[in-house]
Amino acid sequence: MDIWMRYCKRRAKCANDCEEPIIKGTIMVVGKIWRSRGGEKLVFTKMFYWHPQCWISQGIRAIKEIGYTNTKRRIATLKLTTEQRYTRSLLLRRRAMIKTRLVRAIDKGDIKAIDRLLTKIISISVEIEPVGGAPKKWNSNKE
Ligand SMILES: [Zn+2]
Repeated sequence: MDIWMRYCKRRAKCANDCEEPIIKGTIMVVGKIWRSRGGEKLVFTKMFYWHPQCWISQGIRAIKEIGYTNTKRRIATLKLTTEQRYTRSLLLRRRAMIKTRLVRAIDKGDIKAIDRLLTKIISISVEIEPVGGAPKKWNSNKE
């Protein structure tokens, strides 16, 4: 996901479900998730908006949940319990399945399905954090 800040051009909903709208003219954090199909020009994007404070507090909350570790991710992964490993592999497989469906939905131009599948992919990114975190390639656009 690409993240940047800019002035809000028109009232938006905060992705941190803080209930407060983001007011036009105030500074907001913008997140853009995008997927392209290898080599082809077709690119699908989804935008997220946050109040700057909301973005920072959700980030701090997420990072605190993971806890500080001075080791490389691979080593941290090895410390998972059998149950955690199982959960992790389940999430990896579920995401791969959703990605296949997403490619099909993009081919058909089924915006509703694309939206639903992207939302699922994002929630898997969150669910996988306590069980070793997302593989590095998830955060690149080369996937
Ligand atoms: Zn907010």
